Amino acid sequence: MSDAVDLEELVDWLRRFDDRIQDERAHLTKLDSAIGDADHGANMARGMTAVRELLDESDLDEATIGGLFKQAGMALVSKVGGASGPLYGTFLLRFGSSGGDRTNLDAAGLVDALDAALGGVVARGKAEAGDKTMVDAIEPAVAALREAIEDEATVAAATATAARAADAGRDATEPMRARKGRASYLGERSEGHVDPGATSSALLFRALADALESAG
Ligand code: ADP
Ligand code: MG
Repeated sequence: MSDAVDLEELVDWLRRFDDRIQDERAHLTKLDSAIGDADHGANMARGMTAVRELLDESDLDEATIGGLFKQAGMALVSKVGGASGPLYGTFLLRFGSSGGDRTNLDAAGLVDALDAALGGVVARGKAEAGDKTMVDAIEPAVAALREAIEDEATVAAATATAARAADAGRDATEPMRARKGRASYLGERSEGHVDPGATSSALLFRALADALESAG
């Protein structure tokens, strides 16, 4: 089935996310220095290095989406002290729970897994759209993905649409006043800055689109 996403592509997604995080580490830290404590780049780089090591050590022939993504999520939770570790960790854990024993997902399964992952971030962080957090990038990305799949786009095209929606969601955080996380302590002084977590989440969806484009 050409539209299925297999474990190899999902692993490629996480590796590409790690690459982008390492490349954008300084930028993420700069964003977090404006409205946070200047550690988002370091946090994400440390966490994704641990995920990369886990992937390199794993026997992918024996792995399931559930097993691998739950381990990856736990690696993030245990390596990252900041707010982003538990939030991204929960994202991966819930993605894994949704994938379960499978080693591939069809288009609807990918939407379900990403929706479950978003649900985990919201359950854990209690942020809503408009609070100037990673949710402002992830939520529109998942919505755009679902809509594109319902319109019978290919998974590659749908994830590219989702990545553009995440970019737009990231950009839309700039004028917002933060209502969650460290940036909320700044009140109106958080306005006029792009949210670091929304920026890393846009990289997550860009990495997914890249993984599926090169696979297609
Ligand atoms: P910390 O804020 O602990 O230093 P990071 O700098 O690594 O952690 O991550 C900051 C990012 O985490 C923010 O830019 C925001 O996107 C995200 N964030 C913080 N709190 C929440 C929350 N309650 N819900 C969703 N995202 C959040
Ligand atoms: Mg920080």
